[in-house]
Amino acid sequence: MDFETELVNLKIKDQYGATNTPVYLNNSFAYDNAEDLEKVFNNRAMGYIYSRISNPSTKSIEDKLASLEGGKQAILSASGMAAISTATLTLLEAGDEFISTSSLFGGTYNLFKNYQKYGITPRFSQGIEVEDIAELVTNKTKFVFLETLGNPKMDIPDIKGIAKLCQENQIPLIVDSTVTSPVLIKPIELGANLVIHSTSKYINGTSNSIGGVIIDGANFDWTTFDNFAEYKRFGKLAFTAKARGEVFKDFGPCSSPLSSLLNELGIPTLALRMKKHCQNALELAEFLTEHPKVKEVNYPGLADNKYNKRAKELFSDGFGGMLTLRVGSKEKAFEIINNLEYFYNLANIGDVKSLVIHPASTIYAGNTIKEREALGVYNDLIRVSVGIENVEDLKADFAQALK
Ligand SMILES: *Cc1c(COP(=O)(O)O)cnc(C)c1O
Repeated sequence: MDFETELVNLKIKDQYGATNTPVYLNNSFAYDNAEDLEKVFNNRAMGYIYSRISNPSTKSIEDKLASLEGGKQAILSASGMAAISTATLTLLEAGDEFISTSSLFGGTYNLFKNYQKYGITPRFSQGIEVEDIAELVTNKTKFVFLETLGNPKMDIPDIKGIAKLCQENQIPLIVDSTVTSPVLIKPIELGANLVIHSTSKYINGTSNSIGGVIIDGANFDWTTFDNFAEYKRFGKLAFTAKARGEVFKDFGPCSSPLSSLLNELGIPTLALRMKKHCQNALELAEFLTEHPKVKEVNYPGLADNKYNKRAKELFSDGFGGMLTLRVGSKEKAFEIINNLEYFYNLANIGDVKSLVIHPASTIYAGNTIKEREALGVYNDLIRVSVGIENVEDLKADFAQALK
């Protein structure tokens, strides 16, 4: 079955034949006798107990996303940040280190930096090549984290090379694929062990809710890993068992069953939308490159982009819906944003509507100038999340805004 067909055909099981997931707005589930509930509580029988831990509506999207990524299990959480914190805290303890590329979504960068308050040391790599990661590996490294396409740095790490390095050193690799979605890349096939999405973005597609997911590739030998002794009996599924049984349960970042459904409803149109996002972004990037008032356009689909070759190798069906441009100064960036008619000025990506933001004064306002530059956030940079409108309207809008 082709991926496009699979997106539409992921079936649910329902006693009445419903084809969309019914929403179980129950916080708890009753059992006829105490013996059965005891079994479920002690992992000796399958069942739902309490919706902070798991919920049948939420499980529906978890199963779909696991299948689409080529993973075995998934945990849906209240946000992308909840997915990232749950995944990383499942692996970390005071005294540990981890490695991350510097080209990160602002919230992730701040979370990682704040881990220092809990005695955990983040090691941010200078670059995104294998050597940049290799030089930071120590015997305390608990995982490597990267984004498939840096938001908003627009750089593409050597994912295959880094996955190989991680394998050789028995270090799990966590990949945030929010910006690319499983339409462009399936990181587990390239050797990643855990895949993260903020489902709030492309998976949802219409900005109607927040959500995040951790997809477990079940392709890492957790028996060698510290602090997994209790979970050995889960074998390759030990990560999800530990994550759900400890951090997810303890911190409580569960998705509301209604939000789970809202995020799930985006899945059938994901490929259709992603293709249009990619086509529009490429055309808009080409148009902006030609414009005399635009100093620089960052989009991996452009033939002369530094990451064009790598993008072609790693991504299928396009180069994503996000691009950035530099226009000379913060004042000019503000003026252009204010002049745009069709682009909403807001902090989000992945909507069918086109969006713009000035990252330096918003998402990265709390970071130092040095930090911002390492994250590719310059004062004259505008981030654009290109929607699915007719691209001629988007080009015309930028033309008038720049004029
Ligand atoms: C938005 C985003 C996140 C965080 O997701 P939320 O759902 O907003 O918590 C993480 N990573 C990337 C790449 C993002 O774009």
